[in-house]
Amino acid sequence: MVLKVLLATQNQGKVKELRDLLKGEDIDVISLLEIENWEEVEETGSTFAENAKIKARAAANLTGYISLADDSGLEVDVLGGDPGVYSARFAGEPKDDEKNIDKLLSLLENISDAERKARFRCALAIITPEGEEFLTEGTVEGKILRQRRGSGGFGYDPIFSIAELGRTMAELTLDQKNKLSHRAEAFRKAIPILQELARKSL
Ligand code: IMP
Repeated sequence: MVLKVLLATQNQGKVKELRDLLKGEDIDVISLLEIENWEEVEETGSTFAENAKIKARAAANLTGYISLADDSGLEVDVLGGDPGVYSARFAGEPKDDEKNIDKLLSLLENISDAERKARFRCALAIITPEGEEFLTEGTVEGKILRQRRGSGGFGYDPIFSIAELGRTMAELTLDQKNKLSHRAEAFRKAIPILQELARKSL
């Protein structure tokens, strides 16, 4: 029997990423694009984990499917972890990646190279209709550059230099990014949990 799970997103890229990781498993991934009466929930949590749980819980309650939801963003140490859960709208409404980058660069203008440490963090919640909850996390360590480099990716990718590679996220191909991203790590850690849920559903 195939276990059907819902990834609470309308982002096709995320759905493909999870489907690729689950190739060969008896687990089918559907997304919110296939759910008719979904209404966006307010992400009122103060952490990525809380927001991921809020979204996964809403999806599981509405649909009756085991539901997964991720929430991610950038944490800059010298800013006490900001922009954090406010990453998408750091420079205000409407969401604008370029303005967010400009705001961050100007806040860090007088900050030394040694103090520009940052990380991308992703929390992934898996919640069953019966209320069982699981959480996985992924991070990528790096630092904030003084100017943009590279043309790939989205969000803060052009100013985030990956510690291990000395390249920005925007200088990677999508395949390379999908191997080492914070989201990829959180998704990978979810695989054994989904396998166990699939086994129990037999
Ligand atoms: P979401 O939770 O995946 O929607 O991400 C929220 C926000 O965090 C995005 O709008 C971006 O500003 C930032 N962010 C999350 N993941 C990434 C990434 O992989 N690269 C660059 N920015 C990201």
